[in-house]
Amino acid sequence: MDKKKLKSYRDLLVERRASLLGVVGRNEDYGREADTEATQDPADKASNSYTKELLFSQSTNDRHILTEIEAALERLDDEEYGNCTNCGEPIAPKRLEAIPWARYCIKCQDLHERGLLDEEE
Ligand SMILES: [Zn+2]
Repeated sequence: MDKKKLKSYRDLLVERRASLLGVVGRNEDYGREADTEATQDPADKASNSYTKELLFSQSTNDRHILTEIEAALERLDDEEYGNCTNCGEPIAPKRLEAIPWARYCIKCQDLHERGLLDEEE
C-alpha cells in the first residue's frame, strides 16, 4: 500500500479514536450523574438502572472499537496494516474505508463471526 493511502487510513483511525474518547468520557460522566440523581421511587430506580445498563453496553462497544483502533495503529507502525491478520491476504480497500480498524479480510471475518477462526487472543 502506498504511503499516501496509509496516511489517510491513519488519519481516519486517529480521528475516530479522538471522537470515541470524547464519547466514552461523556458517557462515564453521565453514568456518574445518573447515580447521584437516583431517587427513592422504585420506578425511577428501575429506569435508571436500565439507562445505566444501556450506557454501559455502549461504552463497552466503544472500548472494544478503541482497542481495535489501537491495534490497527500498531499494525500501521509495523507496516502490516491492510493485510488480514489471519491469512495475510490484502483486505479490500472498500472494507478498510468502511472499517479502517478491520483486522480480517471478508472471508476470515465471516469465519470469525461463525466462531470458526482459531484466534491467538
Ligand atoms: Zn483473511
